[in-house]
Amino acid sequence: MRAGPSQEDIRRHNLGALLRHVHLGGPISRAELTSKMGLNRSTIMALTSDLTAAGLVREELPRETGRAGRPSLVVRPESARVYVFAFDVGPDRLAVARVGLGGVILDRRESERDRGAFDLDELAGVLAGFARQMRRKTRPDTVCVGAAAAVSGGVRKADGVVRFGPNLKAEEVPFGEELGRRLGLGLPVSVGNDANLAALAEHSRGVGMAVRDFIYLHGDVGIGGGIIAGGHLLGGHDGYGGEVGHMVVNPGGRACGCGSHGCLEAEVGERALLESAGRVSSGQQGRDAVRAVVESADRGDIVAQEALSRVGDWLGLGVANLVNIFNPEMVIFGGILREIYLGSAAQVRSQLTLHAMAPQRERLRLRTSALGDSATLVGAAELAFAHVLADPLEVLARANA
Ligand SMILES: [Zn+2]
Repeated sequence: MRAGPSQEDIRRHNLGALLRHVHLGGPISRAELTSKMGLNRSTIMALTSDLTAAGLVREELPRETGRAGRPSLVVRPESARVYVFAFDVGPDRLAVARVGLGGVILDRRESERDRGAFDLDELAGVLAGFARQMRRKTRPDTVCVGAAAAVSGGVRKADGVVRFGPNLKAEEVPFGEELGRRLGLGLPVSVGNDANLAALAEHSRGVGMAVRDFIYLHGDVGIGGGIIAGGHLLGGHDGYGGEVGHMVVNPGGRACGCGSHGCLEAEVGERALLESAGRVSSGQQGRDAVRAVVESADRGDIVAQEALSRVGDWLGLGVANLVNIFNPEMVIFGGILREIYLGSAAQVRSQLTLHAMAPQRERLRLRTSALGDSATLVGAAELAFAHVLADPLEVLARANA
């Protein structure tokens, strides 16, 4: 006979669940926690006092209750005290944020990146340097409990090695290990695919918050994706799942950075749009260049409108395939796909009508990202907080040691 969970297992689980409520939902009264968690008042009291003693939350009297009798204490995250480092490595941009418990961005640095070769040494040096600058500004009673990075590429789940990242020109890069060493915090750096993490961010704090089945499509130079099914990210066997950008929509079409032809990314990504709009020769690239095409189309530029319409057709075809396979409740367009979708919604919808099956599309909602260009960074922060929420007291004891 297998033994059931011990008292200690149950306590650890409940501490994590309570902290998750406070981290994701913000300040909440003990009374609300009692009803949300289905635990009795004395258990909630014991759990909050453990988390308070550890310095993860604090309890306060509510400002006003409007009700007679003894008010229920409000539990707040110690956002200024407990934080993680979140990193974002994109083809054009490096970003680092110090994010407090509760998801508060306390400090942030960003720098542009050129699209040259992937230099691990230089890149980890820049990111660790930003983190050091931010750490120097913190109060002595603050504690860093984790670090994680969002990377534009396929990341091996087991060890955070970036296996492939055609838009970063990265291959087999032990990124997490090197950044962890450079940071020198004695903390491992978790690494995830940027689009996967942005999907998690939209699920935790964005437009997909109450949605259990959605597909997030992320446009940067390429197209990434994150599939949330039954409330969980579909990572696949090794963590490379969700690469919707390399779904072939046009066999024999444009060459893709992955080596194939006619991938969604090749037909819809930055290069496809800028080439169709005749803007490559002038050397324009990046998010601003894509946004400029959408703005020109908006103002009546015929060439920009045709380019956007062509890209919208391919995007709609890709979305139709995904909708047929996954039957999501929502499809979310993020990164530069936010603007591309808004500029080509008619094409996307008409392709859906042509190619998606009626039962799958009847109740489908198409939305744009609520977190915008911060989605990947917010997702990295959530990844960094994940182990704190799994075992709050243990992680904090280790961080304070
Ligand atoms: Zn491809």
